[in-house]
Amino acid sequence: MDLRESREDVAFRAEVQAFVAASLPASLRERVLGFTHLEREDYITWQRILHARGWGAPGWPREFGGTGWSARQRAIFEEACFEGGAPRQMPFGLSMVGPVLMKFGTAAQRARFLPRIVSNEDWWCQGYSEPGAGSDLASLKTRAERRGDAFVVTGQKTWTSFAHWANWIFCLVRTRTDGKPQAGISFLLIDMSSPGVRVKPIRTLDQGADVNEVFLDEVAVPAENLVGGEHGGWTIAKYLLGHERTNIAGIGMCRRLLKRLKEIAGSELKGGRSLLADPLFRRRLSQLEIELLSHEWSLMRLISLEQAGKPIGTEASILKVRGSEIQQELGRLLMECAGPYALPYLPEALDSLFGGETAGGLLRNALAAQYLDLRKVSIYGGTNEVQKNIIAQSVLR
Ligand SMILES: Cc1cc2nc3c(=O)[nH]c(=O)nc-3n(C[C@H](O)[C@H](O)[C@H](O)COP(=O)(O)OP(=O)(O)OC[C@H]3O[C@@H](n4cnc5c(N)ncnc54)[C@H](O)[C@@H]3O)c2cc1C
Repeated sequence: MDLRESREDVAFRAEVQAFVAASLPASLRERVLGFTHLEREDYITWQRILHARGWGAPGWPREFGGTGWSARQRAIFEEACFEGGAPRQMPFGLSMVGPVLMKFGTAAQRARFLPRIVSNEDWWCQGYSEPGAGSDLASLKTRAERRGDAFVVTGQKTWTSFAHWANWIFCLVRTRTDGKPQAGISFLLIDMSSPGVRVKPIRTLDQGADVNEVFLDEVAVPAENLVGGEHGGWTIAKYLLGHERTNIAGIGMCRRLLKRLKEIAGSELKGGRSLLADPLFRRRLSQLEIELLSHEWSLMRLISLEQAGKPIGTEASILKVRGSEIQQELGRLLMECAGPYALPYLPEALDSLFGGETAGGLLRNALAAQYLDLRKVSIYGGTNEVQKNIIAQSVLR
């Protein structure tokens, strides 16, 4: 196992850093690094810039319009983009339904959907979770009944990220109620403009509205939008979750937060003294930096194994747990920078059109929101408790 960065890797990192510095609009970078809310158009702008450079689908093979990069190059790319203040590339098309279509889709499905994911003409969302089916996903109840050339879908999805911006949703639906719950699930692609689809926002702790409930009432879905055969959805669901988890190590995000934390804690915060001058704060910061470094080495070990053709298993769960813990601790330290100004938090000040004032200034206000927002990372993509069960069952037994 060779964990050193090669000369080519170092040159590639510099190339991506230079590209991000030159191509990312300054106002967008400022908003990303200032932790304010982004608009749909902001994500699309960045995706189109990457697409024009040929970097729209970093994780995809060349034959589908991807870069054909190695896992290490992908990690370098993601880190450089995050550190440079770029919006994240939305995972629902690129890391979820895209790879699913490459493996399980028909030629017609690939030709129709894959190019529109890279160019961001389609915005996808993920319809897995339901009010009674989160960690226990196999208990999902949304029904799809075959009627001639269509499936008629009725049920409810919840926590659907960015459903209010999406024009397509991929859904796990129940096509059979007898037998094992896992054996009666199918994977359907649903046009969000179909009659019977309704999206209702859910307000989160930071008063953001990225997540939604999606109601499906007798929605007719053409049978050609079934992926992987009737009742074959569970295999796809597991395949997709594997992809979701490897992206969730969050190294780029951790590095961005750490860099911002050092900048903010190093600036004058109170009475001419910065937080970095405080020995207690410095100790916590150093400890966290050490933990992040060891987390990065774990990811590199995993990438090295993957490149040697070894399957990734439980290690992905370990990365997910550590990545989310480190992000949350960084969020906690960031909020401490806001001090008492974190308390009178004003959600509307995170909108780009806000022209007013907040106690302590806009940045301090946003630090509180960032702390609240980061609570989610230990829940989505499979909760940390469930990941720990997986680790315990496969490593510690
Ligand atoms: C911000 C955000 C965005 C999301 N986006 C999406 C999305 O786009 N699409 C989508 O389909 N879903 C999405 N989700 C849903 C997410 O996948 C679920 O919230 C998650 O799987 C947990 O399910 P649940 O919320 O139903 O909690 P539950 O499964 O009910 O769990 C509740 C608590 O019990 C614990 N628990 C459950 N089972 C076990 C067990 N066996 N052992 C130990 N502890 C256990 C959990 O860890 C948790 O603490 C999102 C969630 C959040 C917070």
